[in-house]
Amino acid sequence: MTLAELLDLNHRKFGDETALIYGEKRITFRELKELSEKSAAVFQSMGVKKGSRISIMSFNTPSFVYAFFGAFKAGAAVIPINHKLMAPEVDYILNHSQSELFLYDGALAGVASALESRSKQIAINSLPEAAGSQVKLLETIMESAGPYSPVDVSAHDTAEILYTSGTTGKPKGCVHSHANVIMAGITGALTMKMDKNDRLLMAMPIWHSSPLNNWFMAAQYVGASTVLLREYHPVHFLEAVMNEKTTVYFGAPISYLAPLQMVSNFDDYDLSSMRCWIYGGGPISAEHAKLLTAKYKSDKFYQVYGMTESGPTGTTLFPDEQVEKAGSIGKTALPGADLKVMKSDKQEAARGETGEIWLKAASMMEGYLDNPEATKAAFADNWYKTGDLVRIDEDGYMFIIDRTKDMIVTGGENVYSKEVEDALTAHSQISDAAVIGKPHPEWGETVVAYYIPTPDKDPSADDIKDFLSRRLAKYKIPREFHKKEELPRTPTGKVMKYMLREK
Ligand code: ATP
Ligand code: MG
Repeated sequence: MTLAELLDLNHRKFGDETALIYGEKRITFRELKELSEKSAAVFQSMGVKKGSRISIMSFNTPSFVYAFFGAFKAGAAVIPINHKLMAPEVDYILNHSQSELFLYDGALAGVASALESRSKQIAINSLPEAAGSQVKLLETIMESAGPYSPVDVSAHDTAEILYTSGTTGKPKGCVHSHANVIMAGITGALTMKMDKNDRLLMAMPIWHSSPLNNWFMAAQYVGASTVLLREYHPVHFLEAVMNEKTTVYFGAPISYLAPLQMVSNFDDYDLSSMRCWIYGGGPISAEHAKLLTAKYKSDKFYQVYGMTESGPTGTTLFPDEQVEKAGSIGKTALPGADLKVMKSDKQEAARGETGEIWLKAASMMEGYLDNPEATKAAFADNWYKTGDLVRIDEDGYMFIIDRTKDMIVTGGENVYSKEVEDALTAHSQISDAAVIGKPHPEWGETVVAYYIPTPDKDPSADDIKDFLSRRLAKYKIPREFHKKEELPRTPTGKVMKYMLREK
């Protein structure tokens, strides 16, 4: 099935039921199909054909959703763009993906007007403030759009090109077919046993692979409603759960931790409608995993692990394993996927050992856009080599210990940066830390730490060293300590260590 066909199917199956909730607005599956087809007609009138590429930079709004499905109706592929990127970063993606059309939320007009790319532009959702007469708004053009012409698309044609976060270098474009995207939704729906009575809360950016493919597509696949929050905010998040009685939420660990720190009357919110609290996308410490279970008074937490390449299907740690195996990403792959942990290119790791996760998934990308070398390097016999190192415990549970690229080899010893970072942040006067390897003529690399002190504190390097020496073997203790006010992070909150290394 293509995503355009899924839209038609939902129209037949769930017609007048609610597809989207946005503030006071309710949009049914029937309306969603109509709005998408009108968008498709607009795109076609601007020259979009089968195989064209449309980039969309948007907040979580209904406009994003009908522009997204409209692109598929017109036979195009969609590149969802992070709304926090600056003009040169957007230009890179528009040019790299050869996007013919660039759709942007009117509130992002500043970036749109600074672009050098020659992609045609249309604003969506709202007309930019002080817009010149040449700025066109999708919603206005749609009103007078003619009929759209159906396009013959196959499930194996490209639906999405998703750019990776850029944690380890320049973002890479992952090419996903319609079948890949639908499989990601089926995986999400099966894992959380979702049906049309569910209500998905979409508060994480919808342009990101996990919210979009595993969760929004799951809701679409089963006919559940999606509550769209334009942007995450700790109070709006709690209000949406309570007022809309949502049942499923996926978010980065910080989206769970922020309300605990920032909302003083957290305990007043009734969150009891929630069936599935899903967190993932980045590592979480065992302490935080336990804290969430306690504070949200819920035993319905799922930790998920995955990556843009796999669409992002990977693994999950189920609720009944949360406390005992806190911090683990689980034991096995999600439905529609398989994994193995490799000690070397030929040998699998056993329990108690460490290795790299290799993954197969029905939602796995076809490859990196225009980068056959990177694609070739990323796969071995159809297994995607994730670059993530895990330790398998005695019960078979996997714990992420580092990225292969972030592991430091010093004097022949392996040092996992995350282990040193966890030890650093255990210090009461350190709020954040990143650890990298610095080339060294004799030892290969030395361990270097960057840290942010907690407000009004300034621990000395000797004090930190002394603290670490009680927890870590000598070879793991950083040789250099650099105090920072902030660490370079991706918009999804991951530390870009390659930037620290470049320095
Ligand atoms: P790039 O590939 O451009 O360097 P990235 O790998 O950060 O960036 P994403 O695809 O957004 O881009 O992130 C996937 C990565 O995030 C995984 O390979 C893994 O390293 C990390 N990750 C995802 N989920 C988890 C999790 N639950 N626990 C720990 N790490 C995770
Ligand atoms: Mg990656």
